[in-house]
This record gives sequence, structure tokens and C-alpha cells, in this order.
Amino acid sequence: MTAPYSGSCNCGAVTATIAAEPVWVRQCWCGQCQKAAAGSATNNALFATDAMAITGDVAWKGYTAASGNTVEQGFCPTCGTPIFGRNSSRQGSWVVRLGFLDGDHGLKPASAIWLEEAPEWAVVDPALEQFPRQPPPPPPAS
Ligand SMILES: [Zn+2]
Ligand SMILES: [Zn+2]
Repeated sequence: MTAPYSGSCNCGAVTATIAAEPVWVRQCWCGQCQKAAAGSATNNALFATDAMAITGDVAWKGYTAASGNTVEQGFCPTCGTPIFGRNSSRQGSWVVRLGFLDGDHGLKPASAIWLEEAPEWAVVDPALEQFPRQPPPPPPAS
């Protein structure tokens, strides 16, 4: 499938429509993501926020990441579904948890990051580009 994508939490209080393709799709095994994702990795698509239309209230919880950036996880305050992530170093784009997206959206991770924090039982698709921690930032847009 291609844009627009639609998303909803488990209870339906938060919905979104996203009218753009993601910048990237990644799987993250950092410790904070494991807490958000029931012990496994989060699977995330980065989208420009100006392509998103959101209905309902999103609750945010922030923490300071290893990089020193402020990272916030957004979730439904009613049902707890993980929905968004945002990072103070990445203005203008938010991560959307793939589980929030509806139906057969067709998006899948191309890389797995923070593998040094993954549990020893983690199974990571060898086809994914793999990084022990955060991958280097992309070169500036020309
Ligand atoms: Zn909900
Ligand atoms: Zn993470």
C-alpha cells in the first residue's frame, strides 16, 4: 500500500491519517522501547508531522536519551497503545509505531538498531541492516 496511511489505537480514541511516505522504517531494541513494546522491539516509521492529521488526545512521557536528546513516547491515555515517538534532535518529524497503522499497510523495517541492548533471545531478521546503537544521521539534504 502507499500513502495515505490510517492509524488507530486499540480503543479508537486516537486516530490519524498520514498523507506521505515514511522517511525510514526501523526496528529499535533500546531499553526504553522494550518497556513500551512488552519486552520486544518497537517498529517505527518516521513521518513528517505536516503530513499527519490526528484526532483524539495523545499522552506523552519524556526522558533523556543516551545522546542527551529528549525523547518522548506518545500513547493513548485510555488504552495505552504505543502510538508516536519524537526526539528533540528531529524537529518536524515523528515516529509512528507500526502497530498503530491500520490494515495491510505494507511498511516494514529496513534496519534494526540498538542491538547491544536486545535480549539474548531476540531474533533479528538477517536481511535487516543492523546497528549496535543509533545509526549515524543521514547527510544533510542538498
Ligand atoms: Zn486508545
Ligand atoms: Zn528505542
